[in-house]
Amino acid sequence: LVARMRPFGTTIFTEMSALAARTGAVNLGQGFPDTDGPPEMLAAAAEALATGANQYPPLAGIPALRQAIAAHEQRFWGLERDPEGEVAVTAGATEAIAAAILALCEPGDEVVCFEPYYDSYAASITLAGAVRRPVTLRPGASGRYEFDPDELRAAFGGRTRLVLLNSPHNPTGKVFTPAELELIAGLCREFDVFAVTDEVYEHLVFPDATSPHVPLASLPGMRDRTLRISSAGKTFSCTGWKVGWATGPARLVSAMLRVKQFLTFVNASPLQPAVAVALGLPDSYFTGFTAGLRDRRDRLVAGLTDAGLAVLPSEGTYFVTADIRPLGGTDGVEFCRELPARSGVVAVPTQVFYDHQDAGRHLIRFAFCKRPEVIDEAVRRLKG
Ligand code: PMP
Ligand code: GLN
Repeated sequence: LVARMRPFGTTIFTEMSALAARTGAVNLGQGFPDTDGPPEMLAAAAEALATGANQYPPLAGIPALRQAIAAHEQRFWGLERDPEGEVAVTAGATEAIAAAILALCEPGDEVVCFEPYYDSYAASITLAGAVRRPVTLRPGASGRYEFDPDELRAAFGGRTRLVLLNSPHNPTGKVFTPAELELIAGLCREFDVFAVTDEVYEHLVFPDATSPHVPLASLPGMRDRTLRISSAGKTFSCTGWKVGWATGPARLVSAMLRVKQFLTFVNASPLQPAVAVALGLPDSYFTGFTAGLRDRRDRLVAGLTDAGLAVLPSEGTYFVTADIRPLGGTDGVEFCRELPARSGVVAVPTQVFYDHQDAGRHLIRFAFCKRPEVIDEAVRRLKG
């Protein structure tokens, strides 16, 4: 294995899911739903398989899906995209993120991101020979995760190539406010850098969030410098399909595609018409899905609080973080490795998503994208 990849062991999600399987623990670690997505989408995939949509699709994705992605962005975020050139389908958001960074960063270029960060960011930045400049999110007085604007400014410099922003944010459940986004956008304009936004949780924002989801690309001066990435996995409960996409100005989309064509070339053709159907579902699907998740969030938060954890507010995504110190824990990694034996539950330590690990040492993450009875069982065990 090349030296630069040696620090990257097995992902924490794989480690913790294996631990859950081995111990029979309730798995609230890796984020994947335990119910299927919309039946219209599943039926469309089955039909596509049966009717011959089984050969290579075009590099950028089938026209029907690109049109559906463009229509979805217009409908929900008011962003206009030309399906010919400004939209590309990828193997999940993961491939879009990797291809974007590989396409835009020279070795030594710097990428500003927020920590804790989704684990693939560090690996993709390293693969490109680029350098990450993480800005730490810390729970403020209200418990809401915040960053220090001075720390953000200090992360920018002459080598900055792009900002990699994830909002709604995994693992904290933070939804960046318009004021926070404006600070980021202002620095992108001032330093004339690109933005790559990971918005896979774009529809998973709860009504009690400080603000609704706002794409960074919709702020002044940002559309032409932002590659916006999302995925069907979360919104339509099909994390195993790995259908994602990137939208943005043609020069950024085509740069990303130049790399993407040699990573996977194209992606699963029968799933593409099905995701096109899902993106066109009525508003009631999207609001109903979020409402269901919110109930499960509230159920889990109440249970974790009863079990003695200090739960931090989750405004979006399907994750919630908690402080283990009230239970006498000090190190989240140790705590999560022992939790299955102690309580029969699996969670994920968020410390592994920081460069400055001390900032997250006492924090762990639970996923609530599970059936209510599964959440109840986890809570019963934790209280036990
Ligand atoms: N970004 C974030 C923030 C995620 O949480 C995830 C996955 N869960 C991904 C990207 C990867 O998405 P996909 O499965 O579509 O590659
Ligand atoms: N995104 C999911 C999570 O944060 C899992 C992704 C993975 O297993 N790589 O839990």
